[in-house]
Amino acid sequence: MEKLAIFGGQQTVPEGLIKSWPPIDDTDRKMVMASLEGGKHAFGPNCVAFQKEFADWNGNQFAINTNSGTAALHMGIAACGCGAGDEVIVTSYSWSSSATCILHHNCIPVFVDIKFETMNIDEDKIEAAVTPKTKAIVAVHLHGLPVNMDKVMAIAKRHKLKVIEDACQAHGALFQGRKVGTWGDCAAFSFNQNKCLCTGEGGMFVSNDETIYNNAKQLWSFGETRTPAEDRDYHAYALGWMYRCNDLTAAFGRAQLAKMDGYHDTLAANVKKMNECLAGTPHLILPENYPGAEGNGYNYTMRFDMEALGHADDPREFRDKIVRALKAEGVQTSVWQNFILPAMTVFQAKNGYGKGCPWDCSHAQPVDYDLSQYPMAQKHTDSHTGMTQPLRAPNGLDSVEATAAGIRKVMEQADKLNDLE
Ligand SMILES: *Cc1c(COP(=O)(O)O)cnc(C)c1O
Repeated sequence: MEKLAIFGGQQTVPEGLIKSWPPIDDTDRKMVMASLEGGKHAFGPNCVAFQKEFADWNGNQFAINTNSGTAALHMGIAACGCGAGDEVIVTSYSWSSSATCILHHNCIPVFVDIKFETMNIDEDKIEAAVTPKTKAIVAVHLHGLPVNMDKVMAIAKRHKLKVIEDACQAHGALFQGRKVGTWGDCAAFSFNQNKCLCTGEGGMFVSNDETIYNNAKQLWSFGETRTPAEDRDYHAYALGWMYRCNDLTAAFGRAQLAKMDGYHDTLAANVKKMNECLAGTPHLILPENYPGAEGNGYNYTMRFDMEALGHADDPREFRDKIVRALKAEGVQTSVWQNFILPAMTVFQAKNGYGKGCPWDCSHAQPVDYDLSQYPMAQKHTDSHTGMTQPLRAPNGLDSVEATAAGIRKVMEQADKLNDLE
């Protein structure tokens, strides 16, 4: 067997092979320069056009261009009528703001464990978390794999709940052939650097419900009812934030959106190839679509079979050794989240707004963040690693093959990593 790079052997993935995301060409340069020369730098004509183009691309009636995905999530919580002391159900494993967006509006997150196979909220455990205080469900399509929206929408209907889709990682992902962001009452997309549509920072709120759209719009821009593209009366009708995007960013977004379907095809082909190359690799659990789901490949997340590796008792430590060995081979992989959401200090210390709010609010009832409630989320957290860059455009099958070879090399001699300090 070839000596592992971490023990002085040769690195598998050549330096410089993996190109950075996103690809930039003359379309981006032209659009951004035209905005720069256009003189309208705040919420300008590119923002208005980007909203329309994104709504058309995703199949939504309404879209609002924001300065982040988190802003769009907060707008969704508020627009769905969630208020002080209300409970909102969310997965126990995601990016922090899938849950802090709930706190932002004085509401209380209630966490549900994940299904290990899908990495998403366990749809079959949602109903047990519903209480008379529950107002909504945040459905996070993690790593671009859609939540089973049939099940979620049925639960929501039974209990008269609203559904906010966190599609921040899921641009173009399909459930039963239909795009995410069109299933719930509204949805949030992120255009942060690492997302499948990158504008640096940015986001989009989408909905097909006019009332929810109008509510969201009010929170988005100072509590006003008219957008900067209309004849404003500069009156705060309700509590508002300043979540608008700017014209330069929107110009970049429009240029990237025009190339999105091409990026999507590249990623899909790379994921398919990665699955083929890694099939049968020892102790490796590959990401999979469950029936009806078509993920967008946002983050190719693998888990290691810690029981089979003999590390059921110290999964995190051994996972970190495997990741170090992978990185030494030039595999661009990382541990995405090292904490499950309820383990984060903001929830354990309940330090949100201070003085116990919103948990001690007179409208609230007690909730419990005992970590023993989320065993699958913890198991996933302790045994995963994920990759984005090597599978994204402009990288192609050669990047995938080299990366897969590095992973196989490490996993075929994983027992040797027991010797690592
Ligand atoms: C990135 C991300 C967000 C937040 O998006 P920002 O644009 O960074 O605010 C929310 N949820 C998930 C699942 C994300 O990956």
